Amino acid sequence: MSDGTRADGPRADPPGPAGSGRHAVVVGGGLAGITAALALADAGLGVTLLEGRPRLGGLAFSFQRGDLTVDNGQHVYLRCCTAYRWFLDRIDGAALAPLQDRLDVPVVDLDKPAGRRLGRLRRDALPVPLHLGRSLATYPHLSLAERARVGRAALALKGLDLSDPALDTQDFGSWLAAHGQSARAVEALWDLVGVATLNAVASDASLALAAMVFKTGLLSDPGAADIGWARVPLGELHDRLARKALDSAGVRTEVRTRVTSVSEDGNGRLRVQIPGETLTADAVVLAVPQRETHDLLPPGALDAPGDLLRIGTAPILNVHVVYDRKVLDAPFLTALGSPVQWVFDRTDASGLRSGQYLALSQSAVHDEIDLPVADLRARYLPELQRLLPGTGGAEVQDFFVTRERTATFAPTPGVGRLRPGARTRTPGLYLAGAWTATGWPATMESAVRSGVSAAEAALGALGRPRPRRLFPVEEAA
Ligand SMILES: Cc1cc2nc3c(=O)[nH]c(=O)nc-3n(C[C@H](O)[C@H](O)[C@H](O)COP(=O)(O)OP(=O)(O)OC[C@H]3O[C@@H](n4cnc5c(N)ncnc54)[C@H](O)[C@@H]3O)c2cc1C
Repeated sequence: MSDGTRADGPRADPPGPAGSGRHAVVVGGGLAGITAALALADAGLGVTLLEGRPRLGGLAFSFQRGDLTVDNGQHVYLRCCTAYRWFLDRIDGAALAPLQDRLDVPVVDLDKPAGRRLGRLRRDALPVPLHLGRSLATYPHLSLAERARVGRAALALKGLDLSDPALDTQDFGSWLAAHGQSARAVEALWDLVGVATLNAVASDASLALAAMVFKTGLLSDPGAADIGWARVPLGELHDRLARKALDSAGVRTEVRTRVTSVSEDGNGRLRVQIPGETLTADAVVLAVPQRETHDLLPPGALDAPGDLLRIGTAPILNVHVVYDRKVLDAPFLTALGSPVQWVFDRTDASGLRSGQYLALSQSAVHDEIDLPVADLRARYLPELQRLLPGTGGAEVQDFFVTRERTATFAPTPGVGRLRPGARTRTPGLYLAGAWTATGWPATMESAVRSGVSAAEAALGALGRPRPRRLFPVEEAA
């Protein structure tokens, strides 16, 4: 048995500031686990981070395909994602994933008899809610009456109390219908934003989560919805730079190390089992998906551990197309009247030297996630031709897909009461993960917030001061 490390032989404090003598083990090297490990190490604990896969980054990672570096899925964040922005700063990666100066989303409607029509969702330098007023007033994909009704619904949404538990019992689609939103307004505006952020259409989404997204992103601060994304492969941020930050914080990181059980040792500490070895720790943060958490929890750790298995999942498909020439003259755009959702130019980030590499991010595609590649090719290439006139005559040099069947938890009504907070009934054991009770949908922001909450809870119980550089977060439920 070793003490928070895999070292054989006599017990040795893992490297860590000030050698506090307290050890924490973090299970799972996604954004939640990386965050928890950094926070615990910054507070002076010896920390071991255990990740089953050969790399850090969890659901937000990159891989090689020949000369191309590919992200498993396009990831974006918003200016209001203050915890993820803190994380980017903490790993020295903010400059590699900058934000737009000002929200600007090109929206192309392909449903017009007269051909494609471009509209834009933009903000002005005006206070909320006027910052979106001009954009809404001139949004060509809705009628004048629909635009006026959108404005009224936005004000009603702003008035919702996010702490009201009743919000989680309703679906967003019914609420929108009750507030005068036509099917067209849902498609051309609410779902345009909601599907990408919630990974569900309005009728499948909890009003609590939808209200949280729209209130925070569009109705809190004028710049809140400005979009940021990595100009480098995700692995550069979430694996290489995260690893560097962990190393300099003194965290011992072990990849290819799958935890098989967590138990109490009877002396107030916890035992973490990995193949061939048992680690002991004063605190353990389980930062793995809900199903794996369920399987690793010691008996009695949660009142209703079965709830974790009742949290559904939702898929995200990415369709990757390499053309022999430039076909998209914008960093990204989004489409209406087409199965295509969001299209991003990944050329520079992927290292492609000639031509253009586009990634289509397709959220909540329950019916498509298992379709054969040939079917997806037959479906999406003609759609891209309709969407991007520049594809006429262009040669497709590569076409492939990445499928994440359990990309996020399903943000269905009622999911709120299934999401546990950071604390468990087992002393020293804490939970983290985008799926825990952060109030946010399954996002990088939620993952980082959960990691901070779990670390804070652990530090509080150990009587350790919170590190000053840690992101401030309200305690999870
Ligand atoms: C295709 C796709 C697109 C997305 N787009 C966006 C987006 O645009 N914006 C956004 O904010 N979010 C997006 N998300 C969601 C975001 O990626 C996740 O919410 C976030 O990365 C989850 O982080 P996490 O640390 O909570 O969990 P995970 O990333 O799931 O990390 C858990 C880790 O635990 C490890 N693990 C599991 N079991 C064990 C074990 N027994 N022992 C050791 N390790 C174990 C896993 O290997 C994994 O690395 C997207 C997700 C996907 C898949």
